[in-house]
Amino acid sequence: MTIKALTPEVASQIAAGEVVERPASVVKELIENSLDAGSDEIEVTVEGAGQKLIQVIDNGSGIPAQELALAVDRHTTSKLSQAGDLFRITTFGFRGEALASIGSVSRMTIISRAPDGELGARILVDGGRIGELEMVGAPPGTAARVENLFYNVPARKKFLKHPTTEKRHIDEQVTRYALAHPEVRFQLLQDDRTVLKTSGNGNRCEVLGSLYGADVARQMLEVLAKDDLVRVTGYISPPSLTRSNRREITFFVNGRPIQDYSLTSAVMKAYHTYLMVGRFPIAVLFLDIPAEKVDVNVHPTKAEVRFHDSSQVFTGIQRAVRRALLAHSPVPGLKDPPGWIPTMWSDRGSWGPGGQAAGVKADWPDDQWGQPQTNTDSFLVGSLEEVPSTELRTPLLRPVGQVANAYLVAEGPDGLYLIDQHAAHERILFERFMTQREEEVARQTLLQPQAVELSPSEARLLEPELPTLEKLGFQVEPFGRGTFLVRAIPAMLSNMDPGSALRVLVEDFEEDETPLESQKEAKIIARVCKRAAIKAGQPLSPDEQQALITDLESSISPRTCPHGRPTMIHLSVDLLERQFGRKGAR
Ligand code: ADP
Ligand code: MG
Repeated sequence: MTIKALTPEVASQIAAGEVVERPASVVKELIENSLDAGSDEIEVTVEGAGQKLIQVIDNGSGIPAQELALAVDRHTTSKLSQAGDLFRITTFGFRGEALASIGSVSRMTIISRAPDGELGARILVDGGRIGELEMVGAPPGTAARVENLFYNVPARKKFLKHPTTEKRHIDEQVTRYALAHPEVRFQLLQDDRTVLKTSGNGNRCEVLGSLYGADVARQMLEVLAKDDLVRVTGYISPPSLTRSNRREITFFVNGRPIQDYSLTSAVMKAYHTYLMVGRFPIAVLFLDIPAEKVDVNVHPTKAEVRFHDSSQVFTGIQRAVRRALLAHSPVPGLKDPPGWIPTMWSDRGSWGPGGQAAGVKADWPDDQWGQPQTNTDSFLVGSLEEVPSTELRTPLLRPVGQVANAYLVAEGPDGLYLIDQHAAHERILFERFMTQREEEVARQTLLQPQAVELSPSEARLLEPELPTLEKLGFQVEPFGRGTFLVRAIPAMLSNMDPGSALRVLVEDFEEDETPLESQKEAKIIARVCKRAAIKAGQPLSPDEQQALITDLESSISPRTCPHGRPTMIHLSVDLLERQFGRKGAR
């Protein structure tokens, strides 16, 4: 093939792909423009998960009519004039490509009026073709309306995720800017539903409340630390308040929301030993760094930055978070606060005598970013249906006692068994649940229905799942504005707080995937059992120990918890004899 220059339309669609990856990218760019224009009111309206309509209206400085045509062109910006400016960027935008990119993959209308203009001006860009400028009546500020996103890029359209996911990405974007700018009134409407609304009174705590619910906001710990390079402020969740993924660890560098794996890992390091494996905190952290010490021009979406001294930034974050955590746990390191489970099983390969102490790689295993661990998902398949081979069953055991309020010691026909009380109980509950599910799960009606307040995005996840939950013994009704009434919970969970039972469920709805209904139920059940099970740190009476062991003996797969971790370790008589030098060499 001969070499030819791309037509401007094709070139611009290619370039657009870098900036506009999905509907949420449009939302991000438009909000950034509104913020750069000094707006203190920003209203975002979305229809059809952003594919049908994204509209952002602000009350900022507007675009003078004579500049409007320029603004929608590529590489046109009012924010940067010479390359040197790149090293002291204080605006969100500077590349001058957002409007041009969005206009090339949608039907975009901009109406804007600068304060000194009598009238506003309107311009339409349709699939990259810039239309005529028209004068129209308009309030001061700018309205950007983006319709039919990706209508001319079918390939891009195909890669969009399920609408729920795209909506969630949009929620997350708006959420971030609302947090970064509590002084701006934000409103987000998705399909005529108010998803988010902030007052703009500058109180960040209040914004947190409207995002996560008052309950969560009240529990958050404040972070405030500073060294000679970076100032870290914001909020983190206490170890008792966790999520099943790291999506809610958010960073802002000089007000710009960014994604950075290593910063996230600095936070996780700070929580080391405070969190169970697979659990993640909520964190909203603001880093203030001199503009010349950070490069924001790394990627067209500007979601990544490069620090001149990244290790100092890393340490700064870790220290700041750790300090905030320590300040809230009076006797650090001496005792695991109730309800937390130490990360004992993280190094699964080295169980048994002579094995390495646990926790070596406790920071990053077992989650969607790293290597998936082999059996975390497969446990769901056939966990009850399979006929277990008898050798996997537990022999009759005689309880001997409890160690560290976490492990039961028992004697069996061939030596000693150490049983993880939490993992064992999880297994027992899980099997009971699965068996009951065949008939009808026994439910316990609450004397008084309990109201649980969820964040708007959590609420949206929960609502479609209510019929599934009903089958599992949860009777839950929407009560408007993110509040749900819990009327009944499964009898098995009667000692659990209904509110936290419900929250645990919400986290499990990974809307990215559409698992088989039966698998979904099993997943939900596993998650609930994990929370409902006896924790490490809980002393058990001899009777309770006996009961737990008896229940475990009658389980179908007693040797692993529903997540595939071992419930017990066996030290055979043979092994003991060898260890004591009674028999053969080691
Ligand atoms: P950038 O933000 O990188 O400069 P954009 O393509 O996003 O590039 O916007 C181009 C220009 O249009 C901006 O530099 C700004 O002057 C103007 N502009 C865009 N949106 C707005 C807005 N909401 N209010 C005022 N001016 C705007
Ligand atoms: Mg911009």
